[in-house]
Amino acid sequence: MGKLYIVGIGPGGLKHMTIKAKEVIEESEIIVGYTKYIDLIRPLIEDKEIFSTGMMKEEERCREALRLSKDKVVAIISTGDAGIYGMAGLVLELRKDENVEVIPGVTASSAAASILGAPIMHDSCNISLSDLMTPYELIKKRVDMAAQADFVITLYNPKSKGRPHYLRENLETIKKYRSGNTPVAVVKNALREGEEYEIYTLDSFDDSNVDMLSVVVIGNSQSFVRDGIFITPRGYRL
Ligand code: SAH
Repeated sequence: MGKLYIVGIGPGGLKHMTIKAKEVIEESEIIVGYTKYIDLIRPLIEDKEIFSTGMMKEEERCREALRLSKDKVVAIISTGDAGIYGMAGLVLELRKDENVEVIPGVTASSAAASILGAPIMHDSCNISLSDLMTPYELIKKRVDMAAQADFVITLYNPKSKGRPHYLRENLETIKKYRSGNTPVAVVKNALREGEEYEIYTLDSFDDSNVDMLSVVVIGNSQSFVRDGIFITPRGYRL
């Protein structure tokens, strides 16, 4: 009897993968994943069979992973956490009676937060600006309501060539509810090669360095920056 592990490999650097994720990858005979993510864990999988496909082949990849797992031990990998804009949902939707286990990982918002300081200390939410599978109207509504409710917001998939203005448009929405000096940070390649970050305010924000390898973290009404460190207070009276 085979097994399918759905593995979050963390933000990219091997040191930030959990021990369990590493163990199940080592145990697996076949690794399934998007080519670029396979490359992130290449040193761990030299001796394994690999099934990788381009970005738009998610469904095919999940079906293949399920099929292979009937008699082999297989790992299908996502970056970050597989259950956050990763492969876990689709695999489980397609699953019939295969033996499946989800292994969590460090998601991009946690990775980015660790670099910035403590920006998501209080109630927060993740919103993806990708409209490939979510209507843009709904995305805008969620940003508006999260801003109204004073959540710290992490934007995933913040800017792509096909929708370069979405980020600016949604930050304008957030500005309706928050002051211009609210901290806004861009973290690119968090905890992996090429890491960069920049902290702005809503007023000074410049989106020119934002791309699909970045997340954007917007503070709540209490967030501040001290000595270059982005903090959202938990509420202790100091
Ligand atoms: N499952 C992943 C998210 C996949 S969606 C997770 O839990 O992190 C892809 C988006 O995640 C990217 O467009 C980017 O916004 C974000 N992302 C993933 N890894 C990142 C990293 N190391 N640094 C910054 N952003 C990252």
